[in-house]
Amino acid sequence: MTFKELGLIEPILRALQDQGYERPTPIQAQAIPVLLNHKDLLGVAQTGTGKTAAFSIPILQHLANGAPPQGKRKIRTLVVTPTRELAIQIAENFTNYAKYTDIRNTVIFGGVKQTSQVYALNKGIDVLVATPGRLLDLINQRFISLDHIEYFVLDEADQMLDMGFIHDIKKLLKLLPKKRQSLFFSATMPQAIVKLTQEILDNPSRVTIEPEKTTAEKVEQRIYHVNKKHKTALLVELLNTTHTSETLVFSRTKHGANKIVQDLAKAGIQSAAIHGNKSQTARQKALSDFKDGKLQVLVATDIAARGIDIDELGNVINYDLPNVAESYVHRIGRTGRAGASGLAVSFCMLEERPFLKDIEKLIKQSIPVIEDHAFPFSMEDAAEPSLKKQNQRRPSRNSGGGNSAKSSGDSRRKPSSRSGSGSRSNSNANRSNRNTNS
Ligand code: AMP
Repeated sequence: MTFKELGLIEPILRALQDQGYERPTPIQAQAIPVLLNHKDLLGVAQTGTGKTAAFSIPILQHLANGAPPQGKRKIRTLVVTPTRELAIQIAENFTNYAKYTDIRNTVIFGGVKQTSQVYALNKGIDVLVATPGRLLDLINQRFISLDHIEYFVLDEADQMLDMGFIHDIKKLLKLLPKKRQSLFFSATMPQAIVKLTQEILDNPSRVTIEPEKTTAEKVEQRIYHVNKKHKTALLVELLNTTHTSETLVFSRTKHGANKIVQDLAKAGIQSAAIHGNKSQTARQKALSDFKDGKLQVLVATDIAARGIDIDELGNVINYDLPNVAESYVHRIGRTGRAGASGLAVSFCMLEERPFLKDIEKLIKQSIPVIEDHAFPFSMEDAAEPSLKKQNQRRPSRNSGGGNSAKSSGDSRRKPSSRSGSGSRSNSNANRSNRNTNS
């Protein structure tokens, strides 16, 4: 199947060629004909599948084939998405695919002044990409009217619900014209989402893409069992040896992300964090520095990273394992996009092992464990507080301190590690550091 066979018009085909897209991804092959046929669509798919092009291309084709605008342009397409990063990326997609047409778009999101957004709106646009809060805000101020919407896309609906946007969405629905084509995308379909689809869609075609399995198959995955106190040292070790190209590091919490950035700075590694407490400007700067190769490491929380689109990202490190198995699939999906292969490494502490079990169950794979590394897991360290108490009760044991980090029977040696011999001297240095620091 080619894009031409999907019946796309020449200006769009040319733009896709410029993007280097050779053939449609599965969601594009399935969704584009449905959408060109003016049907509503329910897409069960997540970022990384090519879903943005799947919805933006047919909308652009409809708009380009329509009558040219008379007077000031009216907003005819509305795309609502939960995060600022996603909104910006979707708008970039529209701009790329529309470059040989006369279709104009703009993007609006909160956390920044509205002035330049209002200015762009006032010039007249065909496509608006928005996060819900700022959209409602500008509607209330009468800078935006939804009266002329013909195409409505609700993107990442499950995420939208998780982030508490359901009431905003319901308000928006009341403002949309009844006669429209609606597109609804969600990675998962819990009951609340099914209900929402019934309110939005009219007899939709359904397209389901399961990237969980395909992504997990494409990406090389590894587990490092490690004690909490050695996670940062292990991270530094990997960033200095096997992960020297751009690496996205995941932290479960915002505070944890900041701490990782500080710790890496102490080890001479420049990084930046993106999470909900960072200003929009700081997040964009971090993301563009990372994309431009100026930063080796970007540290992100799940929500901030959702949908980040970075071409050729080779490495993901889960500094913390996510407690929701699906998040693991989202995270490792940041690598291995559009056919590229990636490497996803996860640190696993003793208390995270149940999460690991859930993940392996979901991806139906057992993730290879790297046992020969500089900071092998030690049960003695993991159980430190209770062991210390026991040791106090056993005066006959060696009380001279010393090598408390000696590896336990858990660290069976295997020659499979990628932290090759080049890192060995470094590892020894780190080991002695570790003993003095801990
Ligand atoms: P998305 O799922 O929309 O976030 O897209 C994921 C990535 O795949 C983006 O980097 C797109 O530019 C890229 N992409 C989308 N469609 C294609 C295609 N047909 N061929 C190659 N790459 C694509």
